Amino acid sequence: MKPVHEVVASVSCLTFDDFLRTPADIVRGVRIDFVTIFPKMFEPLLAEGVIARGVKQGLLDVRVWDLRDYATDRHRSTDDEAYGGGPGMVMLAEPVLRCVDTVGGGHIVMTSPQGRIFTQGVARELAGRDHLVILCGRYEGFDERIREALQPDEISIGDFVVSGGELPAMLIADAVGRMIEGVVGNSGSVEEDSFFRGLLDYPHYTRPEELRGMKVPDVLMSGHHEKIRKWRKEQALRATLAKRPDLLAVADLDDEARSMLKRIREE
Ligand code: SAH
Repeated sequence: MKPVHEVVASVSCLTFDDFLRTPADIVRGVRIDFVTIFPKMFEPLLAEGVIARGVKQGLLDVRVWDLRDYATDRHRSTDDEAYGGGPGMVMLAEPVLRCVDTVGGGHIVMTSPQGRIFTQGVARELAGRDHLVILCGRYEGFDERIREALQPDEISIGDFVVSGGELPAMLIADAVGRMIEGVVGNSGSVEEDSFFRGLLDYPHYTRPEELRGMKVPDVLMSGHHEKIRKWRKEQALRATLAKRPDLLAVADLDDEARSMLKRIREE
């Protein structure tokens, strides 16, 4: 059986030179398989945006599998009532296990509110794998034996419950996909994003220079690269201190950042 949506793209061979030029945190080429009862939900993800572009460029290889194709009855059931009673249906184990067998290999990610919380660090870790298979649950979630059989990497997008694993899976794929070198046009912009270096991003401005009485900070108009670099670094520290001080406790700060932070705190 073939996946309903198959976009096969080869990952170009790396030369040693490529490794030298590739920042250690950014890797190349990942295959992502989504396992779902709602394959159509992935069409927009593959039609436009960063993931779609990565696929077209051959940097990402994405496939969507319809769980119903792996059902064992003629109604193509993928869920059933819970043993022991209670409200809500449970995802049948057999279709999921059969589908995963057909995919063959890959690091199995189970979307679940009980998983470890998804962060930039987890995204980076997943981007280092060459093949991810993301299971999308529905209803009350998965038959427990799917966990037992597959020992998946359970991942939660936060301490709240959404009605299906498709949005969490797309969110995970987006954050992972944009770390693959070349997927986002300018890898520098990924490195400057919030969280990449353990800090929030600095403020951004574009045209016009003055808007409703609000001016772009002078330093950004100065053309003085070193001053701009320092200003941005300080602003990133200020934003993190004001909005997410918890991040500073674990951020890996260099000497310059530490002395800037000391000065800011003494103000
Ligand atoms: N009864 C389950 C929730 C099921 S919600 C529980 O309380 O643990 C249905 C599906 O939506 C889940 O199987 C999972 O695939 C997805 N889902 C819901 N919330 C999620 C979250 N915070 N992170 C990741 N996936 C989530």
